[in-house]
Amino acid sequence: MHFELTDEEKLIRDTARRLAAERLAPLAPALDRGEGREAFLSNLRFLAENGFMALNIRAAYGGAEAGAVAFALAIEELGYACTATAVTASVTNMVGEVIQAIGSEDQKRAYLPRLADGTYAAGAFCLTESGAGSDPSAMTTRARREGDEWILDGTKLYITSAEYAGLFVVWAVTDPEAPKGRGISCFLVERDAPGLVIGKAEQKMGQTGSATNAVHFDGCRVPLRALMGRENEGFRVAVGELAGGRIGVAALSLGIARAAMDAAKTYVRERRQFGSRIADFQGIQWMIADREVDLEAARLLILQAAHLKDQGLPFAKEASMAKLFASEAAHRCTDTALQLHGGAGYIKDYPVERYARDARITRIYEGTSEIQRLIIARETLRQGG
Ligand SMILES: Cc1cc2nc3c(=O)[nH]c(=O)nc-3n(C[C@H](O)[C@H](O)[C@H](O)COP(=O)(O)OP(=O)(O)OC[C@H]3O[C@@H](n4cnc5c(N)ncnc54)[C@H](O)[C@@H]3O)c2cc1C
Repeated sequence: MHFELTDEEKLIRDTARRLAAERLAPLAPALDRGEGREAFLSNLRFLAENGFMALNIRAAYGGAEAGAVAFALAIEELGYACTATAVTASVTNMVGEVIQAIGSEDQKRAYLPRLADGTYAAGAFCLTESGAGSDPSAMTTRARREGDEWILDGTKLYITSAEYAGLFVVWAVTDPEAPKGRGISCFLVERDAPGLVIGKAEQKMGQTGSATNAVHFDGCRVPLRALMGRENEGFRVAVGELAGGRIGVAALSLGIARAAMDAAKTYVRERRQFGSRIADFQGIQWMIADREVDLEAARLLILQAAHLKDQGLPFAKEASMAKLFASEAAHRCTDTALQLHGGAGYIKDYPVERYARDARITRIYEGTSEIQRLIIARETLRQGG
């Protein structure tokens, strides 16, 4: 397979790299300490102004129309500099893609430009519940039609960006009698909808600069036009859109992994023990070589999935392979980078302990590694491959 990037893709990657280095990277340590919420919001505005919140959205709706490969390259670069900002951008892009995929023309015209230009600081993707994580079809959030409104009741858990999102894509059960996974619909809920309440901010191990909250729908009233796509067919949409989101998480994982290994390579070239640079020890070189293979394999899997998506071909299995491999590789790379720093790796003056904490969740959200394996196995057996 040939992966020559187009001039536009190279431009987007290089622009993302430059802007992220100048603007995001210097703020990342403070965001990790839980400081600089205003700076974080200004990061999001800055990304919107530069087209990074709607990379795969058509220009007619204010997007960059750059494609899935460009999206992956950009998220990798943002993730290299600041994971908290990158995950927010990745989810916001995903929310836009759901609207673009199934929204009516009116919904696309009303909401996509506001996601793209930063009118909404971010978008939120509300699927998970306390009893419905790996198995989202077990959700109990309910939507009932009453007159010319839908009334939503239930609680979504661990929702990225909920605190500052202007728009929420929400899945809820509309036909409780339907077989599991069938009677679920998708809604667009604006932040000021009556009955929408943002719950407590979760205290996280990593990616601490990004917000993660419960979202309560307490008799939340939205107009009938808030339904997106066909009634009772929303779950299929969620499953499809998660595949696209997995390319984002894979790219984010690669960004963190690369940042960790770049820090490690610099360190082993400078650090001396036993009268030599530690980079001269073969034991160290083998660690670097194994992780270099990880980075390259992750990059190729991500490009493959994104390329298939851009071609309009099935890409769910490839997206799961990219997400599984890249997130597990990020775990190996950040752990190796920390090890190569010795005691310094455990100290907050160096960035590698932050990378290790930031990488950990990539094996869990948007489907755990175990769930990716289930998808890959199911597709492989179905294809007879
Ligand atoms: C920081 C953060 C941000 C998040 N952002 C969002 C968001 O924006 N929107 C959203 O909707 N959700 C979000 N989530 C939720 C996330 O997607 C879920 O946490 C994840 O899908 C796992 O669900 P769970 O936590 O309920 O774990 P569980 O499903 O309870 O899984 C527990 C363990 O059991 C394993 N397991 C479960 N089923 C199987 C099986 N069939 N075979 C083998 N192993 C299995 C899992 O792999 C895992 O190891 C976020 C979570 C976090 C922590």
